[in-house]
Amino acid sequence: MAFKITIPDILKSQPTVWDKLYSIYNSGRIGTAYCFSGPSGSGKQGMALAFAALINCEFSEKFPDCECLSCRRFNSLQHEHLHMIVPLPTLSQNSKDTLDKKSIDIFIKELDKKRNNLFHKIRIPKSTRIILQSIRNLRKSLYLRSALKGRKIAVIFESELLCTGSGESANALLKILEEPPQSTTLILVTDFKDKLFPTIISRCQHIQFPPLEDNIVEGMLKEKGIDDEKIKWISFLSEGNFVTASSIADKNWGEINTFFNFISDLMIADDYKKLYKFASDYTNMSRTNTPEFQFHFYLIQRWLLGALHLKNGIHDSLTETDLGIGINRFLSRYPGVNLYELNMLVDSVLEGFNQNANMALLLTNFIIQLQRELGKTNTR
Ligand SMILES: [Zn+2]
Repeated sequence: MAFKITIPDILKSQPTVWDKLYSIYNSGRIGTAYCFSGPSGSGKQGMALAFAALINCEFSEKFPDCECLSCRRFNSLQHEHLHMIVPLPTLSQNSKDTLDKKSIDIFIKELDKKRNNLFHKIRIPKSTRIILQSIRNLRKSLYLRSALKGRKIAVIFESELLCTGSGESANALLKILEEPPQSTTLILVTDFKDKLFPTIISRCQHIQFPPLEDNIVEGMLKEKGIDDEKIKWISFLSEGNFVTASSIADKNWGEINTFFNFISDLMIADDYKKLYKFASDYTNMSRTNTPEFQFHFYLIQRWLLGALHLKNGIHDSLTETDLGIGINRFLSRYPGVNLYELNMLVDSVLEGFNQNANMALLLTNFIIQLQRELGKTNTR
């Protein structure tokens, strides 16, 4: 069940940030470059698009309910002044600078999802960086004179991926930042500001996003017609991340609960056959059902966070459900367990997955490392 999240929803979700952006707009001194950073799912991408729309709106006093031509185009993410940059797969030598058809088809579908839900993150498989060609094309279109009034806006999603590899994309962007084209604003959006080069950061005005508050997440879900019972568990699973909240809104608690119980069992399993079956099943899933694979690993991390909370006596609604029993069993069997270390193991799987690592190898290694880590503290 998909619901629509549009610009007015985004503004309500981060009122303090919006006030700040609105006063920048009102001052008439709109900067050349901004960096929107903060935790995942806090509305940065949507807010960048909202700010871009406001800057180009013809009747800003009516914004965000305005229906001017510019606003209508921004709402459909099809404004001539809007340039969105996302991570893409590396182009092959003979591709003549164009994406393969499969990636283009996926991009079109992803764009459609984003149009419907500004919290949706555009994902194209095998995209591990912002490629140089994207920045070169951006440069061309930003320096081109436009007959259209208003301001050109480039929004670079997951902008830390400019700086991977040899950083050639970051350096190309730096040249644009050093000699900014007229009437242009660049907005770099990132969950990981520390991964951006300091030379880039220093040229941007910084806008920090706090995580969404629980009551805001719950209010938005209620407004979208989700029932109260469901809102409760979506809220404690998503921890203020609305990207996660909207992706789990079409799940039911039964299937999530079953998976959590599966993890509770897996964590105390010392039967290698069972563990290797997990590795092989999830290798398959990483190929056939990418979103489900990522979601399950997200739930493993959430389970570990629950264990950490329980161990340290921190309130967590997750451990107050039946799941607390399984987590308790795990903690009493491995009282000295290093949960940070386990969390890092899960992180390494997700990172390898994003970088197209060999999943069979990666998951087998995960199982071995997991057993080694747990073996250190086994009381039996
Ligand atoms: Zn307008």
